[in-house]
Amino acid sequence: MTDIQDRMRQIPQVSTILEDSRIVPLMSGRQGAWMTRLIQEALSELRLTLRAATGSVASREDLLEGAVAAILERREALLGPSWTRVLNGTGVVVHTNLGRSCFPPQAAEAARTVALHNSDLEFDLDTGARGHRGRLIEEKAALLAGAPDALIVNNNAAAVWLAVRYASKGGRVLLSRGEVVAIGGSFRMHEILAETGCQLVEIGTTNRTSLQDYVEAMEPGTTVLKVHRSNFVVEGFTEDVELNDLAEACRQNNCPLVYDAGSGAIYPYEDLGLPAGERLLSEDVATGAHLVTCSGDKLLGGCQAGIIFGSPEMITGLRKHPMRRALRVDKTTLAALDTVMSLYLASKDQPNIPTLNQLGMSLEDLADRAGRLLSNLGEKAPEGWRGCVVPGQSSVGGGSFSTTSIESRLLLWDGPKAELEAVHQFLRRGNPALVGRMNQDGLAVDVRTIAEEEVNLVVEAFVTAWAHLKSSLGEK
Ligand SMILES: *Cc1c(COP(=O)(O)O)cnc(C)c1O
Repeated sequence: MTDIQDRMRQIPQVSTILEDSRIVPLMSGRQGAWMTRLIQEALSELRLTLRAATGSVASREDLLEGAVAAILERREALLGPSWTRVLNGTGVVVHTNLGRSCFPPQAAEAARTVALHNSDLEFDLDTGARGHRGRLIEEKAALLAGAPDALIVNNNAAAVWLAVRYASKGGRVLLSRGEVVAIGGSFRMHEILAETGCQLVEIGTTNRTSLQDYVEAMEPGTTVLKVHRSNFVVEGFTEDVELNDLAEACRQNNCPLVYDAGSGAIYPYEDLGLPAGERLLSEDVATGAHLVTCSGDKLLGGCQAGIIFGSPEMITGLRKHPMRRALRVDKTTLAALDTVMSLYLASKDQPNIPTLNQLGMSLEDLADRAGRLLSNLGEKAPEGWRGCVVPGQSSVGGGSFSTTSIESRLLLWDGPKAELEAVHQFLRRGNPALVGRMNQDGLAVDVRTIAEEEVNLVVEAFVTAWAHLKSSLGEK
């Protein structure tokens, strides 16, 4: 008999597992159906592992134990949350993979209240009749951007799709070859445009597009799309058309202009120490572009949403679009975004919004935070580890200020390389997890993206990870 057949015959039967005293109580009631599937999946997993395995054959008892343990572990995981809180030590402020902007506490509170209770989401309390979903929030957004009106949808991808779909009605859409962009893993401009049913007309070249290129391609019924180059720059022999000039040309030729502003800046970021040059939404709107779109959870510091600004006629048209319903946001999103808009409206200077606070932190505060971490942790570090506070670079993230790095302060650990890597892995598997940065200098935590209330959690995370390291070294 071959090894493989030998091994396969040791795999427990479903019926054996169903008789196991740890499994029996879990099979009653409606849980039985999905538990059966967990058992089947655990056994096929085991079959695949054994087929690929070499070496000695595990006993029938060991395989049964292993399978039951795997089933119980999977069950535990399913009964708990599917997400893990992360302490962001990367220094990337708007980190798309880590959930972009954090809500201001009042926004989270508002989302919680409407989640737990009924509200006048689509109800007019004065008349007792049906009301307009989110209309007041859209008014606040319009005021902040100096736009006549606004519409909130699921995200900026949806905003671009709806704006182009509505403006072009399946007709020609001009887009510079330098702006056929990809954002993140799944937003590719030409693919979104294809799904609007429009006829994409690429103009100019990758590095140079002139106003002439646009004007020559404008025909009656042509829509023009301009896209913020969020995550890259074109350098060298380049030519680009200012939104202002393009808006003027579109007006003269009677072509609607849609501008995807990407991040959506309401606050003047140079006041936070970022380089000037990022136009505010109000300036985009003032150019006369017919529809301007942006994200709600990038530099704006709110939640996942897309906002479309435009004239009352265009926004009314968008509101009535049959696909609007499919792109609308949840009440919790509306409540959170509402609070963020109010914070912007209420503040004479910098509103208390985590994304803005993180971007605007002073070097003094950063050094202080990093120093406190070090003094809390220094003595507890394993032998051979050295901690220090060093200058480093944070980035804005979220596809904005792509070439800008902001000076920051890092807590840096130097030590045996394998240990640094093992600890970073332990940190990522913690709860909350801590994601830092590994480079040739060691393991770094950029304190810009760690909140003040999280400093103690970072200390605990390291202490726990070091304890894991110690026990894993002890095992060897
Ligand atoms: C980020 C971005 C998008 C996508 O926005 P989401 O809100 O993530 O859908 C689209 N266009 C530009 C220019 C962007 O920067």
